[in-house]
Amino acid sequence: MNKALLIKDGRTIDPSQKTDEVGSLLVAEGKISWRGKGEEAPPETDYEVLDAKGLVVCPGLIDLHSHLRDPGYEEKETIASGSRAAARGGFTTICCMPNTDPPLDNQTAVEYIKSTAAAEAVVRVLPIGCISKGRKGKELVEMGELAAAGVIAFSDDGEPALNSYIMRQALDYSRAFELPVTDHCEDTILTEGGQMNEGVLSAKLGLRGIPNAAEDIIVARDLALAELTGGWLHIAHTTTEGAVELIRRAKEKGINVTAEVTPHHLTLTEERVIGYNTNAKVNPPLRTERDIEALIQGLNDNTIDIIATDHAPHTEGDKLCEFALAPFGISGLETALGALMGLVHNKKLSLTTLIAKLTYEPAKILGGKHGQLGTLAVSAPADITIFDPLLEWLVDTKDFASKGKNTPLAGEKLKGKVIVTVYGGKIVYRNDNVILKKQSD
Ligand SMILES: [Zn+2]
Ligand SMILES: [Zn+2]
Repeated sequence: MNKALLIKDGRTIDPSQKTDEVGSLLVAEGKISWRGKGEEAPPETDYEVLDAKGLVVCPGLIDLHSHLRDPGYEEKETIASGSRAAARGGFTTICCMPNTDPPLDNQTAVEYIKSTAAAEAVVRVLPIGCISKGRKGKELVEMGELAAAGVIAFSDDGEPALNSYIMRQALDYSRAFELPVTDHCEDTILTEGGQMNEGVLSAKLGLRGIPNAAEDIIVARDLALAELTGGWLHIAHTTTEGAVELIRRAKEKGINVTAEVTPHHLTLTEERVIGYNTNAKVNPPLRTERDIEALIQGLNDNTIDIIATDHAPHTEGDKLCEFALAPFGISGLETALGALMGLVHNKKLSLTTLIAKLTYEPAKILGGKHGQLGTLAVSAPADITIFDPLLEWLVDTKDFASKGKNTPLAGEKLKGKVIVTVYGGKIVYRNDNVILKKQSD
């Protein structure tokens, strides 16, 4: 067993308990065993000390939307490499999408994720099961079998559940398992051949556009189906002003819906595509300032429940091609917190709201089934993220643990850096440059 660890004098922000105070945490036997305010000293004496003065200490971050590419596309990412990227990004729980090969549409495939994660992952990995067999959108999976195997949601992500009858059935049956149906809202008939956000810029660049309406149409349909069935709809990667408004109205009506937004859709506009930068090619596409304002408003008024990365790693070769041929996706786990801290520095989001959207709120969606997550409460699993809110760093993809170096943020400076990630009481990532410097000053 590891020696106990005292995380001393950090600014401890725990939205689950509505606390923001300087204090210390004692971690023993994989759990948070004691929590003290100010200079209070813990009851025990035998522990290692981690000086967190000037740092923020919060519950381990939770990502409900990652692509780990394993099985089938291990050249892009594996459960091992993706989980290390998560740890570097401050995430202690990640949920993997089922668009693998084979897809996670049966119990055996889900068991593969669980056993591989148990053997190779450094953080908690929870699987998401498909909505339809083979993600083909034609026949519903055995939802009961997948629920029993431990999936945390159902999704054909990468593709929408375009067949309204399948979506209706999925929402209907999912009620019995109290699990969300996560839809990638895209009218793929409208977006065929689409490369980027549709507007003046796409016309200027000569790229086929993806209109906001392609998202809004499916969001509206899914909300109608959620109302019809009473099923739990979770909207993946919300990007449009229209979708935010539809979700807001649906919540007012009492429809059972939750929604997420990604760091890149909150912080980057379509202009990133200028120069035909394939690392800015993502689906749904980067939108406009106006959409970003609506998404931030949505987070602040709780129309949008959580932030999720939609971490979508690809090889360098995959993205080293003509814009039209490049696959969609951004490798996001390792830059998420740094990018999002920009919103805090610019006073668009409070630090507490940001942390809530990455910890307490996604934990609420997971429910209690996977333990008491997203909290620093005494006796909860010691999943803890420690970060420096002011440290500036350069995004160098050579340092990434992810196999996917595909990010439009490469070479840019971010302000806010994960320093230590603790999962189940064990340090799974530490930034020694900062730790050693702190010890010597
Ligand atoms: Zn998607
Ligand atoms: Zn996705």
